[in-house]
Amino acid sequence: MRKPIIAGNWKMNKLVAEGARFVVDIRESVPSDEEVETVICAPFVHIPFISEAAREFHIKIGAQNMHYEESGAFTGEVSPKMLEDLLVDYVIIGHSERRQYFNETDESVNKKTKAAFEHDLLPIVCVGESLEQREADQTMTFVESQVRQALDGLTNEQAKQVVLAYEPIWAIGTGKTATSEQANEVCAHIRNVVKDQFGEEVAEAVRIQYGGSVKPENIEELLSMTDIDGALVGGASMKEDSFMKLVEAGK
Ligand code: 13P
Repeated sequence: MRKPIIAGNWKMNKLVAEGARFVVDIRESVPSDEEVETVICAPFVHIPFISEAAREFHIKIGAQNMHYEESGAFTGEVSPKMLEDLLVDYVIIGHSERRQYFNETDESVNKKTKAAFEHDLLPIVCVGESLEQREADQTMTFVESQVRQALDGLTNEQAKQVVLAYEPIWAIGTGKTATSEQANEVCAHIRNVVKDQFGEEVAEAVRIQYGGSVKPENIEELLSMTDIDGALVGGASMKEDSFMKLVEAGK
């Protein structure tokens, strides 16, 4: 049985005091992580503050990106070692916004995924097709190639712990959710790709989230699907009450 994982991605939103307030407001209502894993992926500057606020509660902390090198002359970047030092739990890797605006490639996604494991961080690896690719019937082959390249070279033990997030680009921030069947079809395909790459045991263990206009009104149906184990949520994770509804739905 795979444990559901609900992750909020605040993207480039909220000031530090608002972020900390958010965590203080919800922390006592967040259910035990035996039932559902609750993750907040915040901008870097928030991390020390929300970690402090979340300490001893069931909220895990995620970053939204990182470099793959431990240190060096990479002005403006944050390293996996720095995130490890702050006891960050998860890191989003290869979000479509990073692929689109910041030249993230399948190769850098692979390096970052490996670097995460070297620093005790669990990667949430994002994949997903554009509208043009969906319309040209390329969804499955494109997503398959993203998954294979992202996970290339991982050990079985590492691959098992990866969280994959299927986020069709056309559904992000648009209010257009993939239907639960469309989402599940791709998530099932992703699981098959993992099976081909790492075998059945890994494929059964790996968790696959759906992301793209997830909200309290549609999360239950999405989570009821066979191959959807959680959600990666932008807009609806930004308000305390809607985020808590999403987390509750994960139980
Ligand atoms: P929305 O939930 O705002 O569509 O964003 C999805 C997303 O990109 C999460 O990473």
